[in-house]
Amino acid sequence: MKNYKVDILAFGAHPDDVECAAAGVLLKHIALGKTVAIVDMTAGEMGTFGTPETRKKESDDASKILEIQYREQLGLADGSIENNEASRLLVIKAIRKYQPEIVLANAIYDRHPDHANAAKLVADSSFLSGLKKKETFLNGEAQGPWRPKTVYHYIQDYFIDPDFVIDISTEMDKKIEAIKAFQSQFVKPKKNEPNSILGLLDQVKSINSIYGRPINAKYAEGFTVSRYLGVQDFFQLI
Ligand SMILES: [Zn+2]
Repeated sequence: MKNYKVDILAFGAHPDDVECAAAGVLLKHIALGKTVAIVDMTAGEMGTFGTPETRKKESDDASKILEIQYREQLGLADGSIENNEASRLLVIKAIRKYQPEIVLANAIYDRHPDHANAAKLVADSSFLSGLKKKETFLNGEAQGPWRPKTVYHYIQDYFIDPDFVIDISTEMDKKIEAIKAFQSQFVKPKKNEPNSILGLLDQVKSINSIYGRPINAKYAEGFTVSRYLGVQDFFQLI
């Protein structure tokens, strides 16, 4: 069986979720020599702008900018992500395929209902993936159990108090470049059309600036956890 192992596996409900909320930390860890895969759960087919085909091409362009190892789509239904057995098996299959130490998942609550549903789906699947009797197959071969060490939830549209933040000041320019790869989303809406994400770049910079302020960083990305963070000593937190 081909080895796809990476250090960090980032799930996004829609193509561009990961770029908007966590591209900075991914760029930072890739620069440290860590390997990264992104799994988009849907093709974003319910989005007002762009088609699944254009969004796939844009995802590929963003992946090249980020220099990640792998990217794939799970084919769940955009707008209808559910934490059910069929979806969990797909997510478990991806976790066992990429064998990450760290999993990144959508925000625990957010404007788009898919985000919170995807957050719980990924968190539950990360635990269940460690159970030997939960059977999954990749290309006809049984996969072994794999439990990531931890799951971190990134923060996207709605402000959430983070449990920790990571300085992404030096990564910000490239993060913006990766978000801009999703060109179909940056259209100027005609009269009576819903808003596109034209204002998104300002919003991303604002929220990253707010998260950076307490640690004296120009920009930071924020994350939440569902269990205590443990460190070896005080000084690791400086
Ligand atoms: Zn989304």
